[in-house]
Parts: sequence; structure tokens; C-alpha cells
Amino acid sequence: NTSGHRNFPMVPRVVFGQGSFHQLGEILLPRRRNSDAPFIYLVDDYFEDKSLAHDIPLIFNDELIFVSAEEEPKTQQVDALVSRIRERFDEMPSGIVGIGGGTLLDLAKAVSILLNNSGLAHDYQGWDLVQKPSIYHVGIPTISGTGAEVSRTTVLLGPEKKLGINSDYTTFDQVILDPDLAITVPKDQWFYTGMDCFIHCVESLNGTYLNAFSQSYGEKAMELCKEVFLEDIPDTESRDKLMMASWHGGMSIAYSQVGIAHAMSYGLSYLLGTKHGVGNCLVFKHLGEFYPEGVALFNQMLEKHNIQLPEGICANLTQDDFDILVKVALGMEPLWENALGKDWRSIMTPERLQQLYQQI
Ligand code: NAD
Ligand code: ZN
Repeated sequence: NTSGHRNFPMVPRVVFGQGSFHQLGEILLPRRRNSDAPFIYLVDDYFEDKSLAHDIPLIFNDELIFVSAEEEPKTQQVDALVSRIRERFDEMPSGIVGIGGGTLLDLAKAVSILLNNSGLAHDYQGWDLVQKPSIYHVGIPTISGTGAEVSRTTVLLGPEKKLGINSDYTTFDQVILDPDLAITVPKDQWFYTGMDCFIHCVESLNGTYLNAFSQSYGEKAMELCKEVFLEDIPDTESRDKLMMASWHGGMSIAYSQVGIAHAMSYGLSYLLGTKHGVGNCLVFKHLGEFYPEGVALFNQMLEKHNIQLPEGICANLTQDDFDILVKVALGMEPLWENALGKDWRSIMTPERLQQLYQQI
């Protein structure tokens, strides 16, 4: 590695435990610059009429903004939130708090970067393009699996591509892990987002980029996923464990890379708007030749939880559609290199990739 070893940012502060959400007010207090510099809370609109909304510690001119997680976050959505915040307040906010799944966590990260950097969100999609630090930002996951709470990226759908803002300033300054917030997650969504974590483990542990750092986190996350999805453990223990699996799974890919399921799922998301968790599952099912053990475990998990995956997603696509899918997926070069090695282009040809998509 000619560029040397990566100097990887981690979340500097984290609280874990049932009910820890209620410490949010005291955690933010020393971070308030003055009474005119608000905290902005970006909250999944699922919580709009739920008790959590009333427990948010709004003081001074703090603002609570409910955001739908129906669609994956977009660069224009980030730009609109940043303009709205700039117009409404004379002072830079004291910070941004994101409460929800990967969608809300990614929005909070991106807004905190763009508030302190000029231009538009899509200018920063890529690797290490962010010049100035983000403002203080806090992540509070309400569903477990993506690892967005620990990662140094925020994945955004832009006008031309779906790509992360990967930077040292993306990582949260504070995370609160309260497994009770995930009590209300519907079963299918629990499975899809949980499988994102499981697939992170499979892709990291079977990748050519694997190293002892990634392996140590990946193996722990895999062990926790097996307990959660294949054993019968009490719900509270299961929520605790899945939240920590997500954390470790995220740490595992941070120092390596994801693989084929993620590359293909990005294509589905770009063309069809398929959401990350379910998209990964749809793809992963057909990757037995690349990840035989992982796919066997995945099928056991599907069966145990009686999950019916959507079918025929690619049945009515045109050749132009397949061309887009293939182009977007093959554009994720590091993912393919991690999965298949330096020679990946001769292994995963456009024709072979299209055949995989046609099965979905
Ligand atoms: P999500 O945020 O898209 O939410 C999925 C659904 O679950 C939504 O309908 C939401 O309202 C609902 N939900 C969330 N918490 C709930 C709760 N406690 N009770 C009831 N419903 C609840 O889901 P996700 O799978 O966590 O996130 C997917 C997003 O994460 C994608 O946009 C993907 O690109 C991104 N992602 C980011 C990273 C990263 O490192 N930054 C990694 C993986 C995925
Ligand atoms: Zn993922």
C-alpha cells in the first residue's frame, strides 16, 4: 500500500444501554454554544405521534424536523435541509442530532458537513473531498444493522450516482445506543436491516482486503448475528445483541470493504429505488457460488423467520435497464476487487453480471 496505512477516525463517545436515550439532554448541554445556537433534531417521521417525540430535550430555539425514511437520502434533500436551517437561524447551530435508521443517520451526517462547507452535497460524494470539519453531530439509531452509526460515510443518491461522502469529518461525535428504541421495528424491516449487518460480515470476512483489524470485528458481529437470527433468545437480549452486531459489523467494513451483494444492491437502488436492506437480501440469495456458507446461513435465517422476499423485481426490465444496473454495479471497483481480487474484471464480466440480475 503506497499511500501508507489508513488513519481511521472512530466515534469518540458512545453511550450504551436500555433507556440511555434519556441522557440526551445532559449530553448536549455542554455543547450548546449559546441560546441562539440551536440543536436541530432530524427525526424519522415514524416517531411523529410517538412518545419519543415528546422526550426530545427541546430548549431555547431548538428545532425538531421530522423526515420520512420512505426513500433513501438524496443530495438535493440534504441541500434543502441546509438552506432551510441557514435561512431560519442567524447563528450556526450548536449541532445536529439524527434519530432513526440509516436514512436519518446519513442525513444528519451530511447536513452537519454541508453546514460548514460551501457548495452542494453532490460536490462531496467520493473520497476525502470535504475540506472543513462538520459541525458537532450525534447519531441515535432506532433500528439495527447498517453500521451507519460508526461508519465514516454517508450514502446519498445524487443526480448521477449513488455514492457516499467518505471523509474523516463524516463520523459522528457522539452516538447513543439505546436498544429500547428498536422495540417497535416491524418484523420484515428488522430482518432486512439486520441482514445488512450479516452481509457486511460475510463480505468482509470473505474479502481479499481482510486483515486482523476487520476480522476481529467481523467475527464478533457474525457470532452475534447467528445468536440473534438462528437461536431463540429473549427479545431484550436480542435487541442488545443486534445493536452491538451492527456496531461491530460497521467497524469490520470500515477497515476493509463490502462485496458483490452491495455492488449489485447499489444498482437496484439507483435504477429502481430498492432500499438497501431488502436490496441486499434480494441479491445475496443468488450469490451462492461466491459466498456458499453465507448464503446457506441466510437461507436458514429466512426460513426460521418465515420471511417472504419480493420476487420478479427484474422480470420486466429492458436491455437499457440492465445496462444501467451493470454500469452502476461495476462502477464500485473497490467492492469487486475486495470480493474477487485484482483480476475481478475477467471474472465478473458484464454478461455474467446481467445473468445474475436476471434471476432477481
Ligand atoms: P431506514 O432508515 O431506511 O428505515 C427503514 C424503515 O424502518 C423506515 O420505514 C423507518 O421509518 C422504519 N423505522 C426505523 N426505526 C423504527 C422504529 N424504531 N420503529 C418502527 N419503525 C422504524 O432503514 P435502515 O435499513 O436502517 O437504513 C437504510 C439506509 O442506510 C440506506 O439509505 C442505506 O444507504 C444507508 N446505509 C448507510 C450506511 C453507512 O455506513 N452510512 C451503511 C449501510 C446502509
Ligand atoms: Zn450495507
